[in-house]
Amino acid sequence: MDVNAASFEEGDIRDISAIQAHAWPLRQLRPLPRQRHDGFQVVLQKQALDAIHAHGKSITDIEIGGFLIGNVFHDQHGPFLHITACIEARHATHHAAQVTFTSATWDWAHEVLQNNYPDQRIVGWYHTHPGFGVFLSGMDLFIQDNFFNLPWQVAMVYDPLGHDEGIFVWHNGVSERAEHLVHTGEFTDPDQTTVRDGVSAGAADKATVATSSEPVADDDRIKMTVPDENCSQSSDSTDRKCNWLKKVIRAIDRFLNG
Ligand SMILES: [Zn+2]
Repeated sequence: MDVNAASFEEGDIRDISAIQAHAWPLRQLRPLPRQRHDGFQVVLQKQALDAIHAHGKSITDIEIGGFLIGNVFHDQHGPFLHITACIEARHATHHAAQVTFTSATWDWAHEVLQNNYPDQRIVGWYHTHPGFGVFLSGMDLFIQDNFFNLPWQVAMVYDPLGHDEGIFVWHNGVSERAEHLVHTGEFTDPDQTTVRDGVSAGAADKATVATSSEPVADDDRIKMTVPDENCSQSSDSTDRKCNWLKKVIRAIDRFLNG
C-alpha cells in the first residue's frame, strides 16, 4: 500500500479530528503502548526522540531544529501520527535568534526524504528553546501556520536545559500542546507484511547525518519554500508551482521587515 495515497484535501480545516482513520494505512505497534487510547495520538519512536535530544543537546546557546519524519497510520484505537525519524535543518548560526527554514533547507530536507525515507512524509518540525521553556512563540506560530498547516502536521519544542518537551497539534485551527507517547518497541504494517525493529534499520543513523552550519546569506533567510504536500496535488510534481507560495513569501517579508 502506498502510504502517500491518503492525502490532505483542500478545504479541510486545521483540526486533527478532520482526518479519517481508515484513509491511512494500518500499522500495529508492538507492544501497544499502555497510554494508547481511543482517538488520535502522536507516537514518537524512541530512536527519533533520541536523535532529537542529541541534536538539541549538541548546541544549547542558540535555537536549532529540523523536520519530523513519519506518517499517519491507524490501529484499533483510531488514527495516530507515528514520528520515526528526523532530519536536522541546516541553518545559519549567526541568525540563531530563531529557527528559520530557508529554501535551501527545504530542498535539502526533501532530498534526504526522497533518498532515505521515500515512503514517509514531513509530518512537522522541531526546534529547541534552550532554557526558556516549551511554548510556541509568535514566529513559531507563523511558521506552523504557513508551512506545517495540514491537520496532522505538528510542532515539537524541546528545552534541552529545562529537560522538557512538548508536541503541538492542530485543534480547531489552533496549535495546542498534546500529550504524546514514546514507543520503544517494534511496528508492523500488515498491508506490507513487513516487520521493523523500530527505525533501527539505518533510519536513525541516516536521520542524524544531517548537520551543517553553512552560513546563509541574509537574502536567503526569507526565501522559505514549502513541502510538496502543501501544494496542489493535481499538477505535475516536477514543475509544480504553488500559487500561494508567493503570497506566503510576501507575508514573511512583511513579518520580518514590517
Ligand atoms: Zn520557538
